[in-house]
Amino acid sequence: CGIVGYVGPAPAADIILAGLKRLEYRGYDSAGIAVVTSDSGTGSGTDSGTGSGTDSGTGSGTDSGTDRAADRPGRRIELVKRAGKIANLAEVLQSEPMPADGVGIGHTRWATHGVPNDLNAHPHLSYDGRVAVVHNGILENHALLRAGLAEAGITTVSDTDTEVAAHLLAQELASGQDGAGADGAGADGAVDLAGAMRAVCNRLDGAFTLVAVDRDDPRVVVGARRNSPLVVGVGDGENYLASDVAAFIDHTRDAIELGQDQVVEIRADGVRVTGFDGAPATTTAYHVDWDT
Ligand code: GLU
Repeated sequence: CGIVGYVGPAPAADIILAGLKRLEYRGYDSAGIAVVTSDSGTGSGTDSGTGSGTDSGTGSGTDSGTDRAADRPGRRIELVKRAGKIANLAEVLQSEPMPADGVGIGHTRWATHGVPNDLNAHPHLSYDGRVAVVHNGILENHALLRAGLAEAGITTVSDTDTEVAAHLLAQELASGQDGAGADGAGADGAVDLAGAMRAVCNRLDGAFTLVAVDRDDPRVVVGARRNSPLVVGVGDGENYLASDVAAFIDHTRDAIELGQDQVVEIRADGVRVTGFDGAPATTTAYHVDWDT
């Protein structure tokens, strides 16, 4: 329902929590935040990150032979998500603060697939712990995609349509090379998160805004949209992604509206937009002048 992403010098979790509160008026049943951190603490972060929802998630992830990065040294994605009011989430963050790193995503959910509970709340983590994703809308072909993942030995742990997108992104990243050619290839030819997002979006049916982070690239947040809104908030040394300008209006009024079937990469120092085909895209910058 509501999406916020942030890259910059400030603690992402604080910015995102405030942004989610700004989107509260839209209604929701659950809320969550993921932050990419290099803090190498083991256990505690992941415990709080996974909360009750991910407890069961971790179990079945492990059953399927996957690694949810629970104790991976070095970089990891820390995740906290809770059914109910944002106040529930805020309470957890109060007692167990997230790391102060400046790259993260957040979501308020309005359930369409899977009951509102901690496990089905977003963000959703990929089987290997590398990617976290939030999603607005519906992935119509989720059942087919889930079956394909199962054939590759990847089982889903939630009842959401969204979770398949997290696994597909991780699969693309793990595949190393971009089969489609130049699209998405980084300087070394490896697929980056934006390239993975383009490849995945081309396999999705339905209406969606997807916003994701990559544990192994802690400088970028990537978003994509089809038939569902996504706007960029352009700051000074920091940038925002949101489903609605209200999420970042306290920080910047310079916005970029994304077109249909576009992928955006935000970094602290820049914004890059391409089509799902990888071609550079034209976008419309505007100034938000309404009063809040
Ligand atoms: N279909 C997704 C779910 O049920 C996203 C719902 C939303 O837009 O919040 O989790």
